[in-house]
Order: sequence, then C-alpha cells, then structure tokens
Amino acid sequence: ATPSALPVKDCSSITPPYPRLLQTLDEVRNVLPKGSKLTLAEKILYAHLRNPEESLGGGGKVRGERYLKLRPDRVAMQDASAQMALLQFMTCRLPSCAVPASIHCDHLIQAQTGAESDLSRSIEANREVFDFLESAALKYGIEFWRPGSGIIHQIVLENYAAPGLLMLGTDSHTPNAGGLGMLAIGVGGADAVDALTDTPWELKAPLVTGIKLTGELKGWATPKDLILHLAGKLTVRGGTGRILEYFGPGVAAQSCTGLATIANMGAEVGATTSTFPYSDNMRQYLHATGRGPVAKAADQAAKNGFLQADDGAEYDEVIEINLSELEPHFNGPFTPDLATPLSGFSSFLNDNKYPTTLSSALIGSCTNSSYEDMSRVASIAEQAKAAGLKSKVPFLVTPGSELIRATIERDGLQGTLEDVGATVLANACGPCIGQWKRDEKKGEDNAILTSFNRNFKARNDGNLKTMNFLASPEIVTAMAFSGDLNFNPATDSIPTPNGPFKFTPPSGDRLPPTGYTPGDLSYAPQPSPKPVPETEIAISPSSTRLEILEPFGTNFAGGKGELPQMTCLMRVRGKCTTDHISAAGAWLKYKGHLSNISENTLMTAVNDEGGQINVARDASGEETIPKTMQKYQARSEPWMLVVDDNYGEGSAREHAALQPRFYGCGMIVARSFARIHETNLKKQGILPLWFVNKDDYSKISALDKVTTSGLASILDGTSTTSIVTLKVGKPSGEIVEVEARHTLSTDQIEWLRAGSALNWIGEQARK
Ligand code: SF4
Repeated sequence: ATPSALPVKDCSSITPPYPRLLQTLDEVRNVLPKGSKLTLAEKILYAHLRNPEESLGGGGKVRGERYLKLRPDRVAMQDASAQMALLQFMTCRLPSCAVPASIHCDHLIQAQTGAESDLSRSIEANREVFDFLESAALKYGIEFWRPGSGIIHQIVLENYAAPGLLMLGTDSHTPNAGGLGMLAIGVGGADAVDALTDTPWELKAPLVTGIKLTGELKGWATPKDLILHLAGKLTVRGGTGRILEYFGPGVAAQSCTGLATIANMGAEVGATTSTFPYSDNMRQYLHATGRGPVAKAADQAAKNGFLQADDGAEYDEVIEINLSELEPHFNGPFTPDLATPLSGFSSFLNDNKYPTTLSSALIGSCTNSSYEDMSRVASIAEQAKAAGLKSKVPFLVTPGSELIRATIERDGLQGTLEDVGATVLANACGPCIGQWKRDEKKGEDNAILTSFNRNFKARNDGNLKTMNFLASPEIVTAMAFSGDLNFNPATDSIPTPNGPFKFTPPSGDRLPPTGYTPGDLSYAPQPSPKPVPETEIAISPSSTRLEILEPFGTNFAGGKGELPQMTCLMRVRGKCTTDHISAAGAWLKYKGHLSNISENTLMTAVNDEGGQINVARDASGEETIPKTMQKYQARSEPWMLVVDDNYGEGSAREHAALQPRFYGCGMIVARSFARIHETNLKKQGILPLWFVNKDDYSKISALDKVTTSGLASILDGTSTTSIVTLKVGKPSGEIVEVEARHTLSTDQIEWLRAGSALNWIGEQARK
C-alpha cells in the first residue's frame, strides 16, 4: 500500500494538460511520415509543439536538425537567477505570468554553524533580494518558497513534477524532475521569460541517447553510482545536444527519487535533460506526496500510449548498463567524469599521490536527500553507533526540503545521524554552491567526500586545493567513520575496542512507512495564487544588487530604416564564451543589477589588434574594455563588435547579451555564433550578422565607421534576401564593402524593430 499521510492536494494547477497534449500528439503523427515510432522524449517534446506542421512538416531529419517551437507547462526559478528573469519579465508590463511559476530561495543561504543560525544570518544578509523576489511573486501570481523551505529541485519533485510535463527552470540541475517521467530543462532567464510571456520557446530537436538498464543493483551500489559510472563513460560533453532516455527492465525497479538523482546528474554530462517511462514507483511517489489526482490522470494518459516510448522507437545511440555489475564509484577530483570504482579507489589515490585522509563528509543536497537516501544512511549510522563509533570528521547533512527534514526528524533518522556526530544544515544549497564558511583547511590540500553533483575546483568551500570526490550518501557516510580514503566499506573493517567492526550493506525504506509529514506548513505557498497588481516592487534606488531594468529603445528611427552609423569598438580574437562576455564568480552578486554587473563585460576577451586581454581603445586612447564601452555610452555613440568563431558558446546566460546592449552595442558581426547566444542577442535588440566570407573578419578594425545597406528593405519585408552589405569607412577615408548574412525570422525582425523581444511582447499584449 502507498503511504499517504499527507492530505491530497489541490492538483488543478499541477496536473499536466493531458487531453491537449494527446491531441497535439495526434496532429504530430499526421505530420510525420506514416508509422513513425517515437521515443518518450520525442513524445513529450512534440506534444508541446505550438504548431506541429511548422516545426516538423516538410519531411527530412528532425533530431539534431530542426528547431522546435514549444509551449512549456511551467517555470521554476531559484533566487540567484530569478532576479534578472523577473526584472526582464517586468519590462513587458504584463499583469501576470502565462504559465504557473515558482520561486525558490535556496542558493543564498550560507552554511556555517547549523540550520537555525545559518538561516537567520543569511536572510538578514540577503534581505533585499528576498524582499524583491517576494514582492514580484505577489504582484504576478508566482508561488514563493521562502528561505528554509528547501532546494528548488527537491521542492519541484515533491510538488510540481508530473509524468509528461515540460518544465523550464533557471538552474542547470532542473532535469532532476525527470525522475517523475517528464522533461525538465535548465535554461537562462531569457528563455524562462519566453514561457512566462507565452512566447514560443525554441529548442533544437535534441538527439536521443537510449540508456538500457538490465540486471539489479546489489550490495552498496545505488542509483547515484549508475550516474557516476555513466558520467565516466560519457565525459562532461557526451550528452551535449542530447536527451538521455532510460529504458529496459532495470528502470521500473528504481525508486522515483533514485531516478531523480540519475536525472539530476545528467547535467554533468551536458545532457539537455533525462527522462524515464512512467512506472509504478512514480505512481506511488505521487500518492505519497499528496498528488493522487495527478497519478490518476497519468494512468489514463499512459493507457493512451503517452508516457512511454513506442515499441520499436529508435535511439541515436544506445548504451547498455548491467546494474548487477555496478560497483560504488568515486568521481573526481575537480571533474565529475573522472570515475573510479570503489575497488580501485585506494590505488587511484596512491598512484596520484592524492591525500588519503578525509577532511569532511557531506551528504544531502538536491541530488541525494530523499527519504530513501536518509533511511539507508541511517542504517549505516545505526551500525556504527552500536559499535561505539562516531564520525571522525565534520559530517554535514543538507536536507533537500522541509518535508524531508520534518519526516526524518519525526522518524528518528535525524536523531540517529546526530548521535554519531552529524550537523544538520538548513534546507538549502549551502556547501554545494560554495556557501560553506569553513575555517579549517583554508588554502590547504585536503580531500572531502560529498553526495552532491558538481565538483569543480573551489565549488564547495572556495579553496582551490580542496579535492572533492562525489559518491553515494551511503559511501560518504561509511567513510566518515573511518576517516581514511583507503577504507573500503564493502570489504574492510574498522578497529574498535571490542574488535574489528565491518558494515553490512545499507538498507532502508523508499517512502516513509507512515507517510511524509509536512513540517512547518508556513513554508508552502498557496497554489497558483492570484496576482496582486497593486503590489509595489521592493527595490531600493540605492541598492547595489538590484536595479529596475529600463526597456531598451529601438536602434532604428521609427522602427525602420538602416542602423545608424556605428564605430567598431574592437575585434575579439578566438574563443569567447558567455563566461568571457559576462564572468561569474564574485560578479554573481550583481546578477540583478545591470549597471554594476556590466562592469565585467568582455573583461577576459582578447583584442585581435595587439593581442592584449581587456584592452580596447577609442579616439581618446586605450582603456579596459568595459571602460571603453562606458565612454561610448556616455557620448551616446552607437558601436559594434567584430568577433570570431562560435562567439557566445557556453551557458545560456542572458547577461552576455544584455550587457553589451546596455552600453549601446547595435550590431555584432561574427565568423560564426553559438546558436543560443545569437538568439539572446536578437532578443535584446542587437543585430547579429555572419561574415559571408570568414576572411573578411580582419577587414573591420577598431574606430572604423560601419553602416548597413539593405537592412531597411529586410526589416520592412520588401526584400527576402539574407545579405546585408556593410560599408566600412576607414580613418583614411577609404570605404571597404563587406557582405554579411542575417538569420532573422519574421518574429525576430519585430523584436529588432521594437528594441527587444520583451518590448515587442509587451506591445502585442497591450494591443
Ligand atoms: Fe544547485 Fe547544489 Fe543547489 Fe542543487 S543543491 S540546486 S546542485 S547549488
């Protein structure tokens, strides 16, 4: 029987619109060649198409080739990325969001001494951000999960995820919700705003990698080890442009929360997202979390053939994993794809002369804090306690949500962990995202174990020398009692006064035997609240972290004609990712303040004329790149950039387009663009152009005066050519002509004419 101590929730706003999705899928089958067999990933994506004929019609290959225009069902935002997403949304001046949305205060909570004190200190330190987010949530009808409620992905899994749903989240581990058989995709704020404003959200149809699971997990092996093993096979780039779709007899046996762990870490191999066919375990999890009506609707949709792949569906690649052969793994240090099985870990450490003394053990986070994880971990702690052992190192536990925290407290699991020396932190990201104030081991070589998902340098404690290995919570916990990384809990013993002690493999309950308890009910927002339009948005004019975003004006007189003459600010040489354009790190605190964060613009870019980093010049001399941009901005002098190949690769960070636009950039001409960034530039009203002849890159230099020719007729629709001629005026008076190509769709032309996509959306809505 499914334990369901939680009252059944109002599921009206969280049940996927199955009848509409099935109807769209019928239309899709009429557009695709007769008898096409679809993977589950394709079914969910295509069921969310706005116009199947437009996206799929005309024959030809879809996966990896076509751009899908989609209508996501829901948006989730975390406190760091929600800031700019909401500031952008506000510029459209719409009264409410087009789809249900939620905000989660989790990333800004710093772990230091323990849940209560950490939470109150962090709330004080970030009060202005939380107040802003709460006021925007109230104004636009967004569900607001205040600090302490839990981590975005755990709360989404417990409350919003549902089989067949398509959700966007402004965080890279959004795919966690795939554990409930849906597609959850991590995006930048500008994409989230597409969904919030009912603008078609574009995605290049991903390839689909099938992961076939056979056999069954044994002993110490867990779902975490499956994804750690797979990360080793695929590497950090192996999933790029792909959805990982799991199938085979080994899937149904995994708990829903175990599947969520696997989906969560699909982000580590760069996958668009991961998903699984609807299973009995998913149904039970829905009931246990008070969502029986969603389970019933999903059962019906599954009967209609929606929530699993068609028999005979083909994958672009198939990887088979026999769960019976899977060993626990340690991945790291410093990259999640360096996978070492438990049996080889000691030699790996010794061969590389890595530290073998453990300095801290951390479990929980959005990746591994399910009831199942905690009950299995408690089974290890019980054994250790009975043997008189205590954790040899700081042992930190991060519950993923208030629901988990309250339930493990009620069921005595938390007490068991505390008895052996654990400190329970706030329900928030904390040490997983560098929010860990750790005074010991500052600047020293040391090794930590975490059950988290990422382990780039300095990710946890800001110390570049901390070697961070990822493992299952069970293995991390067992190792905490030894303190020695050479210890193999499956085979070795720990000496005690009563003789050697050896662990038996962990065991636990997938769901709480007496059901979940909600804990502090004040954390749960009212479902789909009504917008309160008269709410004042809480941003102080003197804030250094938040600033109202003013809509950009159009670069075209009256929204038509050619662009005004622009001065070339610089020619950027070589690789230029969104990180080069808008650095992260210490700048993250300014994510909601465009003027302040813009001071990092292109500060690690190489100037092709001279080869220096962060140097540009205007007529008055050399300066840093952002300072030069500020000079142009102060003179209201329009400017443009020349850039190299694959400009703007990397994350979907919208700041990389917003910042140049803020300083007055009107056009960027590239040897080639990364697709997402190119679209982001168009969204912000910057014209991206491609050199027809890549060698023309060096024909435009700093201080040249560039005018467009042929653009006016493209904008007013009298010309369908894709070619724009650039007339480049040299300081000598010579004029050089360069041909460039635009990739603007009809909608994107409107964005440019209006000054930005958001201006245009706002104009449409007010018509
Ligand atoms: Fe991201 Fe870590 Fe927070 Fe999860 S716990 S959302 S991975 S920062």
